[in-house]
Amino acid sequence: MQTIGLIGGMSWESSLLYYQIINQRVNEKLGGHHSAKCFLYSVDFDEIKHLQYQGKWDEATDIMIDAARKLESGGADCIVICTNTMHKMAKEVEASVTIPLLHIADATASEMVKDGVKKVALLGTAFTMEQDFYKGRLIDKFGLDVIVPSEADRVIIHDIIYQELCLGIVKDESRQSYLRIIHELSQQGAEGVILGCTEITMLVSQEICSVPLYDTTRLHAEAAVDFALEEGR
Ligand code: GLU
Repeated sequence: MQTIGLIGGMSWESSLLYYQIINQRVNEKLGGHHSAKCFLYSVDFDEIKHLQYQGKWDEATDIMIDAARKLESGGADCIVICTNTMHKMAKEVEASVTIPLLHIADATASEMVKDGVKKVALLGTAFTMEQDFYKGRLIDKFGLDVIVPSEADRVIIHDIIYQELCLGIVKDESRQSYLRIIHELSQQGAEGVILGCTEITMLVSQEICSVPLYDTTRLHAEAAVDFALEEGR
């Protein structure tokens, strides 16, 4: 089994989910008392959040590169950035190490392509919904047609992520807002909805939603396990 290197803490609420899913999946696959071999480098999210909000992406990139290098020198065999937003600097992080970076958008989009989904709605932070680093990859690498919520709804989605979910706060009224937005996106033709922020899965799940949901946290964590257990590694 290979060792998974996780860059987490963005927020730690979702890193907890990664850790749980990764270990559960290894155990499902190998049985017995098997669990995952992994390192978690967990940042102080307050520092990261301030850099994001101030647009100081170069400084944020330096922190991510430093984390990736530390994981590599510690013996990790791959890098998993446990947040969609911080894939903004995925290319720079990937170039700074010799081990592979498992991209969250690839894990997600591959599943959608497998399901024959073409038109997708993307929910996430404003950075993820509005900038090109994530949408661009879905369009250019996977040929997906990507829509995002209206400007007013993007503010709602973003604020609930930072002011509630990243702090472990889960409110039913926020869940209802998300479900309304998802419903409207499906009426605009979205065949699947990407939960493109690793905390959204704390709020909405497939059981309460008729539109197919693609949970980036689960899909990314599972891709990490598939990598770690791949035959011949
Ligand atoms: N975990 C979130 C994401 O997947 C947001 C927190 C962050 O900015 O990293 O985008």
